[in-house]
Amino acid sequence: MGIGVDRGVEVHFARRARTAWIGTFFVCVLCSYFPCAVSTRAQEAPAEEVRSDRRPVLITVDDLPIAGGLHREPEERARITDAMLEVLARHNIRAVGLVTWGNVNGPADIALLKKWLAAGHELGNHSHRHLSYTDTDVETYLTDIEHARGKIADLLSEHQQTLRFFRFPMLREGSTTAKLDAMREYLRESGQRNLPVTLDNQDWSFERPWARAVAAGDEQAIEQVAEAYHESLHLSIRHHERTGDQIFERAVPQILLLHAGSVGAAQWDRLFKWLADRGYRFADADEVLADPAFAEPHAYVGRRGPGLWDRILTQRRHQQARQEIETLIERQVGAWNRGDLEGFCADYTEDTIFISPSGRSQGREQVLERYRKRYPDRSAQGTLSIDVLDFKGHDGTEVSMLGDARPSRIHSVSVVGRWTLEHPDDTSRETATGLTLLVFERTQDGSWKIVRDASM
Ligand SMILES: [Zn+2]
Repeated sequence: MGIGVDRGVEVHFARRARTAWIGTFFVCVLCSYFPCAVSTRAQEAPAEEVRSDRRPVLITVDDLPIAGGLHREPEERARITDAMLEVLARHNIRAVGLVTWGNVNGPADIALLKKWLAAGHELGNHSHRHLSYTDTDVETYLTDIEHARGKIADLLSEHQQTLRFFRFPMLREGSTTAKLDAMREYLRESGQRNLPVTLDNQDWSFERPWARAVAAGDEQAIEQVAEAYHESLHLSIRHHERTGDQIFERAVPQILLLHAGSVGAAQWDRLFKWLADRGYRFADADEVLADPAFAEPHAYVGRRGPGLWDRILTQRRHQQARQEIETLIERQVGAWNRGDLEGFCADYTEDTIFISPSGRSQGREQVLERYRKRYPDRSAQGTLSIDVLDFKGHDGTEVSMLGDARPSRIHSVSVVGRWTLEHPDDTSRETATGLTLLVFERTQDGSWKIVRDASM
């Protein structure tokens, strides 16, 4: 049955957003610049006690050597790189830098990547052309990734290092299950691990306004962009922090996404101080990824690229919805088998639509009436069972005011099942069986109700 459930796009407003800041921020978000970078670093081993009560965070820097197309002069690229490395060193951070090989312009840029290695950072693969996996076929995408892998692995081998990490451009890991699986298989076979992001944010969107303000020498604009940059990052970090902590009911380690550019080079010192004041300590990839939170499986499929906690949250929501629906179906079957047709129909909405080869009933009362006529007594009712053959929770993509893609709640569920009616005490009646498509919607009190039932 073609009962459609629309995937809505919702806009959620960050609760702590301040009106004064919104205007400034929107200017930044609307710019067309679209890179992505991450860096990570581990603090020098602090005393054991200090370690235990501070939350580890891995810093990752995407789109190395320099994100986007703004800074083309080799001297400027070197100056920005030196500034980024200096602030990372000042905070004893060992980052993971993700290289977009298409951003590497000849020997001068290779020299910049070597500076990252010499400073003790690790480099990973962030593709060649920074393609959106959502909009690219698997073969083209894999060819692009593999090309970059070969180049970066060669560079690392000169430094006796092995390439370990890959990060999806724009965090888009697959818009279909087949695409998700294809990349997972490729990464496994090529010895690369997907390096997820837990603290997703829009830091990249500040690069252009920052560069423009600096080029103009406009002190007021520089200050405004800096304030908006920090405000935006603080909001994103607090949000994702809360999501992860609620899922795991503890302070889980985090992986922060940053991008290689001039705004970061100028603002990371203040950002890292804020993180330290917030109770973080900078940790390396091995320590952070060893946390069991990063081993929780998920199979998130979507066009956009949300952070890891949102993916895991979605997986858990689907599991919970399935459990709730199965409980509901068991309760219905129990009611039927007690001869309680009213109880059986209680989980239909008042305006439900029921269709079968014999026609269409509209509304719970009509459905109940139909059952009463068709199955007037216990002998006719027999013993019902329903096997769930397929379950699908329907969710969509929300976009936060900060511009982050975020999976929505599950608003509806469709179930394909096989129903069977047996009459063990009445051999004159044959067993009847057929298929059903049930569509459930979540009601205001959070419970599920059947809005459509197509049984045949
Ligand atoms: Zn990127």
